[in-house]
Amino acid sequence: RRELETWLRLDKRVSLLIYTGPDGEKAWPKKYPFCGGVFQSPIDFHKDILQYDSNLLPLEFIGYNVPSTDQFTLINNGHSVKMYLSPTMYIRNLPFEYTASQLHLHWGNRNKSEGSEHTVSGKHFAAELHIVHYNSEKYPDVTAAMDKSDGLAVLAILLEIGPFNPFYEKIFRHFRNVKYKDQMVQVPGFNVRELLPDRLDEYYRYEGSLTTPPCYPSVLWTVFRHPVKISQDQASLNTPTHILISWISLAFLDDPEPLEMVDNFRNVQEFHERLVFISFREGKLYEFFYAKKQCTVICVNLKVPLYFTTTKIQKSHFPIVHLVPFPSLTSLLHGQLYENKVLMKSI
Ligand SMILES: [Zn+2]
Repeated sequence: RRELETWLRLDKRVSLLIYTGPDGEKAWPKKYPFCGGVFQSPIDFHKDILQYDSNLLPLEFIGYNVPSTDQFTLINNGHSVKMYLSPTMYIRNLPFEYTASQLHLHWGNRNKSEGSEHTVSGKHFAAELHIVHYNSEKYPDVTAAMDKSDGLAVLAILLEIGPFNPFYEKIFRHFRNVKYKDQMVQVPGFNVRELLPDRLDEYYRYEGSLTTPPCYPSVLWTVFRHPVKISQDQASLNTPTHILISWISLAFLDDPEPLEMVDNFRNVQEFHERLVFISFREGKLYEFFYAKKQCTVICVNLKVPLYFTTTKIQKSHFPIVHLVPFPSLTSLLHGQLYENKVLMKSI
């Protein structure tokens, strides 16, 4: 009994990540100094720190469509559910080539589905998916890369409540098999691109850190602007089949009390002197344009002249930003261009 207790305490210190209470995230820097240092993540994206950068290209995903004959390993590591990815998956259009390592999730609880780590103007989303990559041009593996300033690139996908998402279910449906810490299961390969938002061209980019200890400031973050929808049931992860247990509470050794894995997100960090670069323009006209689904006559009137303008620009093959310097109008045209492309594709 004493041995068991000692082992439990030791393992608790090593691997149980606590977000609240006296051993919560405020205490992380005592053992992991980087957690109290600079370049920490997550952060809140608010307009004072955002700066448009026309050099931010959409990322390209190579090898993301993994055949179902290949398998991913899914594991409950006590503070999240992590799925190891194929080393044949990598990203282009970053300063280096980054190879995929794993993906995992952060979420809230059954009463409050506000579990995203990054926030936008103070607003949380229901959950957040992180796809972790390492700089495979400079480092042999993720362990060697994770404490280097240019070591990691993480994609973050904000998740909000909406209809049932069959693509995310390809992961979620296996949660019943990794209910307890250290359990693992094999997941058939699928197209990981389907977990990303449709629009890959609009994102926040900044230099930050791991959001769990040891909090190394080694992450080039890409947080996609457009959230992906999953259903309430999927987001709460608390259906009888989905409930995840992070640990057995030590206070109840005679009658162990399962500790439900909830609220595994870190609070937003000080941003100090940093800037977040954005690949999109913000503005009232822009917002108006994207609200077009809700609007009627006035939008139609606005879109007709824009259609002709953008068609002309497309034919000229010049970068749009040089032709139309007025920021809000540029965003508007960019949006229209995107839509034209989608239309052309669908035709
Ligand atoms: Zn994460």
